[in-house]
Amino acid sequence: KKLGYALVGLGRLSTNQLAPALEKTEHAKLAAVVSGTPSKRDKWRAKYDLGDHVYTYEQFDRLADDDAVDVIYIVLPNGLHAEYTIRGAETGKHVFCEKPMANTAEECRQMIAACEKADVKLGIGYRCQFEPHHLKAMETVRSGGLGELRGLGAGFGFKMPADADPDQKLHWRLNRELAGGGPLMDVGIYALQFCRYMTGREPISVTAQTTLTESIKFRQVEETLGWTMTFPSVLESEAKERNLPEPLRAQVTASCATTYNFGGFNQGEAFGEKGSVLLKPAYSYSGLDGSVKGEPMNLDTPDQFAVEIDAFSQSVKQKSPFKCPGEEGLRDLLAIEAIYQAAETGRRVEVAQL
Ligand code: NAD
Repeated sequence: KKLGYALVGLGRLSTNQLAPALEKTEHAKLAAVVSGTPSKRDKWRAKYDLGDHVYTYEQFDRLADDDAVDVIYIVLPNGLHAEYTIRGAETGKHVFCEKPMANTAEECRQMIAACEKADVKLGIGYRCQFEPHHLKAMETVRSGGLGELRGLGAGFGFKMPADADPDQKLHWRLNRELAGGGPLMDVGIYALQFCRYMTGREPISVTAQTTLTESIKFRQVEETLGWTMTFPSVLESEAKERNLPEPLRAQVTASCATTYNFGGFNQGEAFGEKGSVLLKPAYSYSGLDGSVKGEPMNLDTPDQFAVEIDAFSQSVKQKSPFKCPGEEGLRDLLAIEAIYQAAETGRRVEVAQL
């Protein structure tokens, strides 16, 4: 049986990526929608033959009684993820939530607790963790294919349209309450994820700085942010076993950046003693490209959303662990909070560990 998904928020991602993906999935199908806009509700009801399974935000909690719905998929602005994930869990349905998981680590903790209490699964939308180029790069680095890992570089950004204004809900990405932050929350998180899953480890400490060219547009969130993260090159247990001196225990520096000021910045690279792995473009929906030690990967990019939705659906059906649970989203927010604190204070900040 295909699991029924309720899409909550019918913006660009739901319209252009998720609804088409739910027509390709083996284990999932679109079963319901939640939207505040009457014209969208009518359009989706007709286009996807949804009948009564169309809800307003005021009717959200009624999803509890909709037997066609197994999973509630939160596709709202970041600042609403926590509220709707928690209310979603309280309906007794499983919850899949878009990245970034929430505005703060504290909200992430509340979301995890709510899903545990309701005994439902929680998944976070990290599509790249299911994408063949990323998997190949990850496998190469983590199996020691580059020898000892020495450094990482990653960045993702785009140009925010000229008419964007933080007071218009249309541009919620510039509004602090709705977005939680600027490009770091929206696209820089892909670079952060890249570094975390390439190393398979958590950053120990970070430094960061921001730059600003359009002070009116970016009065609530950062415009461009550059940051570094220090990762342990060897685990503490290995370090003790091999009797390594202190300086060799924290050797991998990641240099990262994110921006709303220019496009075409979309890459991830890992450098080891025997060569490097490069992904560029790294985080697009299609047309990804990459190489290992200069050799092209020559891999196809499937519909990343269909693959990730099928993976979550199988975890729900089989009651098995999902690759990107709430804790994965929380770990990113712990690093993000440290990065913002470092940018604000100009100091190196330690990353709180889970
Ligand atoms: P969008 O602006 O196109 O859509 C957001 C939707 O939320 C709109 O339909 C809007 O009407 C609705 N909404 C409901 N309440 C709102 C409120 N109070 N204020 C503003 N809008 C409200 O945004 P999007 O690009 O579809 O992004 C939605 C979520 O999906 C975000 O969390 C974003 O980070 C995530 N996203 C993920 C990917 C990915 O590749 N995984 C790509 C794009 C977006």
